[in-house]
Amino acid sequence: MAYKLKKGIFKVACKHPGCPFDAEIEITQNIMGMTEEDVEIEAKKIVKDMALIKHDAMFGTKHSLSSPTIRKTSGIFEAVGAKTTSLINQSEAVKYKEYKKGDKILKKGDIATTICEVVKGSAFVDKNKAHTYNVGDTFGAAALLINQTRTADIICGEDGTTIAFYNLKELSKKDPRKAKELYTEAMEDIFDVISEMESVIDNLEKELEKENMVSENRKERISALERELLESNKKISEFEGKHSFK
Ligand SMILES: [Zn+2]
Repeated sequence: MAYKLKKGIFKVACKHPGCPFDAEIEITQNIMGMTEEDVEIEAKKIVKDMALIKHDAMFGTKHSLSSPTIRKTSGIFEAVGAKTTSLINQSEAVKYKEYKKGDKILKKGDIATTICEVVKGSAFVDKNKAHTYNVGDTFGAAALLINQTRTADIICGEDGTTIAFYNLKELSKKDPRKAKELYTEAMEDIFDVISEMESVIDNLEKELEKENMVSENRKERISALERELLESNKKISEFEGKHSFK
């Protein structure tokens, strides 16, 4: 199982004698882990960092946050997937698969029927290594909505990477809330893809403009040469007229 924390709120108090710091900190990040403990540890790290900043802003000139107590006051741990090690809990709605580093998770051109979510590890787009998908990120949605086939190779980034393949149609029957969440994330992914495409198009347009300018310059140069030629022809005929050798 993978877990994630929803709407986590933590209380952080400073142990420095007489310090009134007692802040409520809400986690808005999507924190996931393989156990509830993992998620809580991860969440507390983030809360501590946020508390340090908050504390410094208030009492930073006097002392820094000293051995703070951090406790969760609200928030629920949600199971994200079924057991990743066995195939028993696989359903029509979601299937899990584990990969080794370098494995091809999606192949360009394959028929797309699922949206993928990184449950553990990471993956990246083959032709654009800068575009990395980490735990909680979804990919593969563009194909579902745009052209029905996978638009790029997606490569596994590290050993043990686990990917959930969601069938949105089946999932919306069993877990409409998760389906809606995935759909929203997928739309965001599509917007990312679209904005990347837009920047590619922008660059192409700029290149084209440059080309046009070059060919515009060439046209000008040619008509200038043509004018010069006409001028010289005129001069030659004038010269011949004056010095008739008939
Ligand atoms: Zn303090």
